[in-house]
Amino acid sequence: MSLFDKLRPIAERLDLFASGPVPFDTVIDHILSPTEVVIGGRRTLMCGSNNYFGLSFHPEVIAASQRAVAAEGAGTTGSRAANGSYAAHRRLEQAFADAYGKPHAMVFSTGYQANLGVISGLCGSSDTVLVDLESHASIYDGARLSGAQLFVFRHNSATDLARKLSRLPDPSTCLVVAEGLYSISGDVGALREIAAACREAGAFLMVDEAHSFGAYGRRGLGCAEEQGMLDQVDVVVGTFSKALAGIGGYAVSHHDALRLLHFASRPYVFTASGSPANIAGVEVALRILRDDRTLHDRLWANVRQVRAGLTRLGFRIGRTESPIVPIEIGTAEQAVAMWAALLDAGLYANIVLPPACRPEACLLRTSYSAAHTPAQLEEALQIFGQVGRALQVIDAAA
Ligand code: PMP
Repeated sequence: MSLFDKLRPIAERLDLFASGPVPFDTVIDHILSPTEVVIGGRRTLMCGSNNYFGLSFHPEVIAASQRAVAAEGAGTTGSRAANGSYAAHRRLEQAFADAYGKPHAMVFSTGYQANLGVISGLCGSSDTVLVDLESHASIYDGARLSGAQLFVFRHNSATDLARKLSRLPDPSTCLVVAEGLYSISGDVGALREIAAACREAGAFLMVDEAHSFGAYGRRGLGCAEEQGMLDQVDVVVGTFSKALAGIGGYAVSHHDALRLLHFASRPYVFTASGSPANIAGVEVALRILRDDRTLHDRLWANVRQVRAGLTRLGFRIGRTESPIVPIEIGTAEQAVAMWAALLDAGLYANIVLPPACRPEACLLRTSYSAAHTPAQLEEALQIFGQVGRALQVIDAAA
């Protein structure tokens, strides 16, 4: 089959959406606020961003970005390794190192590249990468790029991990990767147990806190902090693109070798660094999240309101209390119908279809922000109820 013919199955899968809107190609015409957008001319509640604290519109974040674009220009036009590292990138690395209390921090151009860069920078063809089955694509891709042997352990199962580690001839050449908060299921990683299995075997542990940074832990550093085991993680990775409302990624570690990744990590060396406006905005967002704990309290109050409302309506939702609330729907056709009807009623959610889930277990992924008002969440619940009843996803009496 020729290269372009290989793409044909994607066209066949798009048929699922017939003449309706296509979920992975939705155009947002205007962004009114972190929680409201305009899609197809209609005001739409945003329940499918990762803007967990609404900081994309925070006046101090915007002001810092504006100052940076005026002072340093629109883009860096090159890689930090080849074209020079702006002082602001270094300052942001120091801010992450200070926040985590670790000696080394590294800033990447995206969260995706942080995973790619750390995994492929640390591991090579004689090593093993052992990842949770439900890991993000960037973790799988990092392992593939590294050329290491890639194995998976059952989702959140330290027992399965220990079994797989015990089969390795030399676990000191193995990097285990887990997430703090899994991006689709909203499950919190069993990090203590996973770290214990790593320690027992002598393997290294990397934790991706992309979705947990800000929301978990006393200082908002993520699930490893929340579970009191940050000191047992060899590398913490995260992203700027969710709680911090920018673009980029970070890695922090107590290992001196992390410093050397600035010279050895291809996804760091061979790409342009984040724009000045973005880096400046993230630096301010990091400070706001550290200092304003009311944001954290509002987020969790919102999570509780939504989970209670969806449960009352009769939806089957994810087990774990987290800002990510998956709603179980059923077949791909049912999920597509529900997604499109919600959008039509003025609510944007994410849809999860095979191969990201089992064919009969398609989901809507919803996520919430400290910026949602209680009234917006009530409106969202009303829409969920009305559409869910019309499509018989929930009982008509609900
Ligand atoms: N890790 C996880 C767990 C993610 O969910 C994501 C993005 N959804 C990334 C990494 C990549 O981050 P970014 O979009 O900032 O590149």
